[in-house]
Amino acid sequence: METPKSPTNFIREIIDGDLAAGKNNGRVHTRFPPEPNGYLHIGHAKSICLNFGIARDYKGLCNLRFDDTNPETEDVEYVQSITEDVRWLGFDWADRLYYASDYFEKLYGFAVQLINKGKAFVCDQSLEDMRRDRGTITEPGKESPFRSRSIKENIDLFSRMRKGEFEEGQKVLRGKIDMAHPNLLMRDPVFYRIKKEAHHRTGRNWCIYPTYDFTHGICDSMEGITHSICTLEFEVHRQLYDWILDELGIHHPQQIEFARLNLSHTLLSKRKLLELVEKKYVLGWDDPRMPTIAGFRRRGYTPESIRKFCDQIGVAKADSIVDLVMLENSIREELNKTAPRVMAVLRPLKVIIDNYPENQAEQLDVINNPEDPSCGTRKVPFSRELYIEQEDFRQDPPKQFFRLAPGREVRLRCAYFIKCVGVSKDEATGRIKDIHCTYDPATRGGDAPDGRKVKATIHWVSSRHCLEAEARLYDILFTKRNPNDVPEGSEFTVNLNPKSLEILPSCLVEPSLKNALPGSRYQFERVGYFSVDSLDASGKIIFNRIVTLRDTWAKIESKL
Ligand code: ATP
Ligand code: MG
Repeated sequence: METPKSPTNFIREIIDGDLAAGKNNGRVHTRFPPEPNGYLHIGHAKSICLNFGIARDYKGLCNLRFDDTNPETEDVEYVQSITEDVRWLGFDWADRLYYASDYFEKLYGFAVQLINKGKAFVCDQSLEDMRRDRGTITEPGKESPFRSRSIKENIDLFSRMRKGEFEEGQKVLRGKIDMAHPNLLMRDPVFYRIKKEAHHRTGRNWCIYPTYDFTHGICDSMEGITHSICTLEFEVHRQLYDWILDELGIHHPQQIEFARLNLSHTLLSKRKLLELVEKKYVLGWDDPRMPTIAGFRRRGYTPESIRKFCDQIGVAKADSIVDLVMLENSIREELNKTAPRVMAVLRPLKVIIDNYPENQAEQLDVINNPEDPSCGTRKVPFSRELYIEQEDFRQDPPKQFFRLAPGREVRLRCAYFIKCVGVSKDEATGRIKDIHCTYDPATRGGDAPDGRKVKATIHWVSSRHCLEAEARLYDILFTKRNPNDVPEGSEFTVNLNPKSLEILPSCLVEPSLKNALPGSRYQFERVGYFSVDSLDASGKIIFNRIVTLRDTWAKIESKL
């Protein structure tokens, strides 16, 4: 299948320019470099679509590289989830799966080269002292007293750091650049620190670990990356990226920064998402309320809808907040075309058709997808006892209510006109138990031969034939457009939406859903788009609401 090209953007224009100028011998080679310290979120999806999309459209390559230089926060669980998520999004790195940790020996060699050039030194200052001596934007920093160590002594100390002769915090390797540099990151930055920590891939082979800044450019260079695309916060790191590659005299990819995705009512920070998981505000990384790829997948989003969203939001140089509605519209538009329609009643109210024979049942033809006639029809059973939504009936209908009410006639979707002739109530509570209706046999299929009209069409299921189901209705996880907007001294968790999940355990769905497979998606007519999550112990189907039928945001905003 030919995937359409993504729209152009300033990064693609840079690449076009490079190709026109014959740079990199016409190669385009990008990479996606996640740190395996959490699950990927929708912001990462933007970066994935950008990097892999460029490789696809320019017939280039994109590597998947784990930037695994912080053993204390990283884990193989994250490595596995990340590879699964990138694949699920529809991208393929072929045999180019790399780990920064695979380069530890080479990185060590490059550090030795810099020491030998007099461009790096072993420093005994504590982190606090280094911070204190770093200076500010307006004041230069102070040179470390260890800066003038001889090359020989530095080589010796660095190799002893590697052997484990020193404790954490006793020594670091620093670049010897310029303590008065206007860019604070250039003031003798740390390249290696001691961490007596087991690494998920290299075990206890190493007790010194390179920093992100030291590692990243060298890995890019060794992999022959041409365009190293990253988010804006790395703009200030670019000078250091360039300095290291220039000092080492190795292949020099071009770092290009773009604005990260911020999504309204959503947090895209792995640290905060981890907190939600660890403190059990959500049920896990793949909780359908989480903005993780795993969460969206579980909720029922398709990879196409996420890719389309990423194309639509574009790539810019300035930060902004994208409205969550855009993402919802992306899946809604797709499912409107592709999801089969079924009837499901979330909050059932029993209807008895008094003039329908007690033991009779018939199979009615119901359209599978009005947007796509080729989907045909299916049979849905109809009988004397049915269920409709509680909210489709009012005993005392307000003015704008056109659905079922005493004395009023409505259409049951693809079935008959019915008219409400009575209401029976529980004597003790006064609550409506069921309602009685009559049907007009001449309206089979949903139209009256005499041309009379009804103002509403409602969905229904047959009591004898329907299946029990559970529906999980998800709402925004945070009530604020910017969840980080909190009163002084409060945590972002104060903005959690207490109603982000509503579980409806007693739904009834039409029998055609009997063998619905986990992951399959449907439109529950008039209700929303749902996907099958799993079956519970009794075989009851659990549905996740992916998204409502229409944009309900106007309503939400006015409630806030
Ligand atoms: P977080 O801020 O969530 O911890 P991170 O930047 O630390 O994310 P990495 O695993 O280092 O996470 O990210 C891998 C790649 O994804 C990086 O190139 C990073 O720039 C990019 N990325 C991370 N967050 C976003 C975002 N919100 N929008 C676009 N790209 C992102
Ligand atoms: Mg990062």
